[in-house]
Amino acid sequence: MKVPFLDLRSAYDEIRGEIEPAVLASLRSGQFIGGPDVAGFEAAFADYCNVGHCVGVANGLEALQLALVALGVGEGDEVIVPSNTFIATWLAVSQCGAVCVPVEPDPRTYNMDPDRIAAAITPRTRAIVPVHLYGQPAELDAILAVARAHGLPVIEDAAQAQGARYRGRRIGGHGTLCTWSFYPGKNLGALGDAGAITTDDAALAERLRSLRNYGAPVRYQHDERGFNSRLDPVQAVALAVKLRHLDRWNERRAAIAAHYLRAFAGSDLILPHVPDHLAPVWHLFCVQHDRRDELRERLRAAGVETLIHYPVPPHLQNAYADFGAGIGSFPEAETIAQRILSLPIDPMMDDAQRDHVVAAVLEALDALR
Ligand SMILES: *Cc1c(COP(=O)(O)O)cnc(C)c1O
Repeated sequence: MKVPFLDLRSAYDEIRGEIEPAVLASLRSGQFIGGPDVAGFEAAFADYCNVGHCVGVANGLEALQLALVALGVGEGDEVIVPSNTFIATWLAVSQCGAVCVPVEPDPRTYNMDPDRIAAAITPRTRAIVPVHLYGQPAELDAILAVARAHGLPVIEDAAQAQGARYRGRRIGGHGTLCTWSFYPGKNLGALGDAGAITTDDAALAERLRSLRNYGAPVRYQHDERGFNSRLDPVQAVALAVKLRHLDRWNERRAAIAAHYLRAFAGSDLILPHVPDHLAPVWHLFCVQHDRRDELRERLRAAGVETLIHYPVPPHLQNAYADFGAGIGSFPEAETIAQRILSLPIDPMMDDAQRDHVVAAVLEALDALR
């Protein structure tokens, strides 16, 4: 039996009958930029996140970049980011001309450790960017408390957490701004690149609408040097259709996660730790093992595709060779990178595939003991 890590083709086939007429209608409307399809998804997603405003943009990286610019982050400023994240969180800061100041994760949750933030704040700090990594919300109350104490805005990178809840409330409006990616592999994914920013701050939402459109609040009036980073109407209609299925897909992910947690309890794996007040959406199901690479090879041989999120932390990537943080600078992130492994948790998996993953993992663990 083969278990692919993610089967986007099956997910598409499941709802093709809804997506294709919607996309066709959008194409035939002749509205190829902006218009009611984009506004319709923005309203639906704002509603879903229980937040006042949603601004659709071209992708998750630019959502972060526009959010930083809208908050005035620029040359010479410092922004607090996780040491353990996908590199896009860092790239957005760098592309504003600002400097990343990494904060290590709580090794149990993999998310930014709030107790380590204060020590990273300097007079040049302009924002804190926690990531809701692997689909589990970061420790928002504590992060927002440090931010408030220092008068700093918080930008949540929620690229992996569509639908996740913190103390019962959906992610999207806890921080000053919340950024989203709808890259096809995310829990809510478009048919190509797409992204958004949500906020309860009307003035910031207006600024973001201008920034995504050449810095023009009205046509040919350019108040600042903006970007071209718009959400495409075809992506917007596809997202609007898929949003109606998101909770069902997230529930399926949660059911697979619950099954894995039961099946692997007491094994040699370090399992995901979910504090009671968090409801993750299981973008990824990450485990740790001392002999991760051997485990991965055994799973591959058994037909189970796994991935590593992420094999090299941003500070050790060639792109940050000039950052000045060598091996040993961020040991929590580096240890995670050496030990972590993502098991398949695709909502399209059937029970037989799920059971095959469990059997293959238990067999591999036995062999490695
Ligand atoms: C996917 C992702 C992004 C970037 O999103 P794109 O749409 O691919 O630009 C940013 N941050 C995190 C944590 C991500 O997982």
